[in-house]
Amino acid sequence: MKAAVYYGPEDIRATQIDDPKLDVAHGMMVEVTATSICGSDLHLYRGAFDPILERGRSQVGHELIGKVIETGADVANFTPGDRVTMAYSCSCGDCYMCNVGQTAHCETTQKAVYGFGIPFGDLNGSHAEAMVLPHADAHVIKVPDSICDAAALTLSCNLPSAIIANKLAEIKPGEKVALIGCGPTGLMCLDIILQKSPASVVAFDPVAHRRAVAAKKGAIVLDPGAADVKEQALSHCEGRGFDKIIEVVGTPESLQLSLDLIRPGGTIAAIGVFCDQEFNLVLADVFLRDISLHMNGFANVQPFMAEGLSLMEQGIISPEEYFSHDFSLDAIDTAFKTFFDKSDNALKMLIRP
Ligand SMILES: [Zn+2]
Ligand SMILES: [Zn+2]
Repeated sequence: MKAAVYYGPEDIRATQIDDPKLDVAHGMMVEVTATSICGSDLHLYRGAFDPILERGRSQVGHELIGKVIETGADVANFTPGDRVTMAYSCSCGDCYMCNVGQTAHCETTQKAVYGFGIPFGDLNGSHAEAMVLPHADAHVIKVPDSICDAAALTLSCNLPSAIIANKLAEIKPGEKVALIGCGPTGLMCLDIILQKSPASVVAFDPVAHRRAVAAKKGAIVLDPGAADVKEQALSHCEGRGFDKIIEVVGTPESLQLSLDLIRPGGTIAAIGVFCDQEFNLVLADVFLRDISLHMNGFANVQPFMAEGLSLMEQGIISPEEYFSHDFSLDAIDTAFKTFFDKSDNALKMLIRP
């Protein structure tokens, strides 16, 4: 079959590989109807995870909408033909961490993540014609036909992450909120923030067309690269800082911007994927200003997939609006490059095998 394989920095392309085999009783084989590229996949693309990927073999992709084609003997919840999506992290549903809701820290699978290299379980990826989902009953859900493929894809990672960010931030009516990062997950965060009746939302992103989407939804938008960005931002919260900040970027600079702009006693929910080993984090400042700093490195999305589905079914959120491009699996190298460069008004890429 065909699948996207990592060959090195900025070199991910469709390749003919051996067909996957269903060799575990708790797993099932799924035909991929559509998949998409996550912002975190761009870290793989730029080579940040080169040491943990095997060039020419490691598969990528962790967002899925597909059709069950074969189930293992122990799979109870699914039958062939079911339309399904899975959580990006493969969890067993039985261990201590799964039982306390920390599914991304599953002790059985040892933090396995689809399409993310050898230390994260060396699993297959969704950028393929088919894939095997181990522990299927624990982290796969059925998706009704009323939800389109593009929207359903966001249940694997982006939308539950946006829900989690909002739960961590606990935004109350009338609060002044900042959103740092207006990629697809950031924009879904914004959709949910706006449901909480904040006094205002100031959204930051260096890419003009992403700022335009946030502005259209009612956010005040700023370019974090502007020389006076902090002064501009503080002018929107009486100079004292924001009550709540959701950070969806994952760089030392974006975390520092969050810390510079939060008011005393405020809450930062940082769900960006941080790849750097070190930060200029001054814990004394966090302590002296009573800042609640939540860093969510591995989002436990499985417990929030049903809520994501419900938000879509109620019409509160329509993630398909964030898909800017459709590509075939054969053209996934172009899809990665377009998304990475943010060219051609790129927002989110849908890939059809
Ligand atoms: Zn993701
Ligand atoms: Zn587990």
